[in-house]
Amino acid sequence: MIIFGTSSSTIHPKQLREGDCPYCKTENNMWIQGYRKYVHVFWIPFFPIGKKVYSVCGHCKGAFERNEMKSQKLIESFEESKNTYIKTPWYHFTGLILLISSIALLTILPYLR
Ligand SMILES: [Zn+2]
Repeated sequence: MIIFGTSSSTIHPKQLREGDCPYCKTENNMWIQGYRKYVHVFWIPFFPIGKKVYSVCGHCKGAFERNEMKSQKLIESFEESKNTYIKTPWYHFTGLILLISSIALLTILPYLR
């Protein structure tokens, strides 16, 4: 029996450089937050299938998606943090790395005698 499915891991919140809350208008207290989804086989992360990122206000705790952000400043710092901070960790490819390594090993093994 092969056990597989999808799972997600949370992205730790990080404060944005600037921007104001679309709801309560508090300035420079916006955070980027989100989670990544990945496919796992026997609970080993195999490959990533996507991520979801949004901003959260440190004051009213409201969460806003990219299309709900109104100020240009907020959009800019959100995009900036998304590009520099939100990266897929290498271990989300663990299963894929293991699979490729075993195929490579099986391929070169006969030549190692
Ligand atoms: Zn707010």
